[in-house]
Amino acid sequence: MDKKDILSMTKAELADFLESLGEKKFRAKQLYEWLHVRHAESFDEMTNLSRDLREKLKETAFLTWPEAAEVLKSRIDETRKYLFRYPDGNVIEAVLMKYSYGLSVCISSQVGCRMGCRFCASTIGGRIRDLTASEMLEEVIQIERIEQTRISHIVIMGSGEPLDNYENLVRFLRIMGDPEGEKLSLRDITVSTCGIVPNIRRLAEEGLPVTLALSLHASDQAERETLLPISKKYEIHDVIDAMKYYFEKTGRRITYEYSCVQGVNTSPGDAKKLAVLLRGQNCHVNLIPVNPVKERDFTQPGRREIEAFRFLLEKYGIHVTIRRELGRDISASCGQLRRSYLEENGNVLSDRCRIKTE
Ligand code: SAH
Repeated sequence: MDKKDILSMTKAELADFLESLGEKKFRAKQLYEWLHVRHAESFDEMTNLSRDLREKLKETAFLTWPEAAEVLKSRIDETRKYLFRYPDGNVIEAVLMKYSYGLSVCISSQVGCRMGCRFCASTIGGRIRDLTASEMLEEVIQIERIEQTRISHIVIMGSGEPLDNYENLVRFLRIMGDPEGEKLSLRDITVSTCGIVPNIRRLAEEGLPVTLALSLHASDQAERETLLPISKKYEIHDVIDAMKYYFEKTGRRITYEYSCVQGVNTSPGDAKKLAVLLRGQNCHVNLIPVNPVKERDFTQPGRREIEAFRFLLEKYGIHVTIRRELGRDISASCGQLRRSYLEENGNVLSDRCRIKTE
């Protein structure tokens, strides 16, 4: 019998599971508290459960925490990167960032990614597998445990495409937002997507008021296709319509992420097209100077060019910020730390999971 992933269960599922073990349903509350309030590391710690029940849990369920294979501390700011290794040998990365409003973690949603975005290191080896809800949760809790702190914000912007791992993502969000468990405000969670239209619309219906960020990166379809292969499947106007729908349903202001690439997407003409594309929307544009990836030859525009682009967007009435580059000294961009770790350790990443959009 496969052991159950107990940390991914909702309260109701936990009650049913305990009932299947011949236990009274009310035990679920105690167990849930051990899992999601006290964050027990093992079943043995759960001392108000009978020894007999703890043994049964060990036989039928698992509770495994990823090991921090590497922690890197920035010398420039207070950013930290963690490489977590799961029992199956896969490694993912998560990042802790300090802001004036609190501590934010950037977590991964998949091992690798199959979206193929041209400037992104996470996608170079394709997707290896999805992360479960418990594995996403463990990234957050393990960092809290290592740092002896409480995290206030989560951004799902590490490796992977969260809307390509929809069921696990929604499960993770429900568990995270439970006021009797993890107690995080869903408003303090941002999900970033490259634009999987049907799942943006589905997420709008879930009653989960998370902030949604779209990786837009271009002001028209042709330009977007050169950067994001997935946009051949989901066209720019359909994606924008889905984002508007998300806003209508949830009331959450939309974020558009826009990686600035030298000679590609920051001309005055791009600013004008972008302003027309986003006209009338309650949104915010976040400019990200592209991080160089050694396998690709994208470079950042100069600071003045990015400032000029921002100035023009503001003139057109768009709310815009330039993303602060944190932890620049401990790894350039998403996925690079994991990649270099795997290469150093003799693991070759395969290309076979890459999605075919051509
Ligand atoms: N799959 C999700 C999350 C990925 S990473 C998504 O596509 O949104 C989070 C953001 O970083 C995305 O906007 C992504 O396009 C961007 N990004 C990836 N590689 C980058 C790089 N080298 N430089 C700047 N931004 C990058």
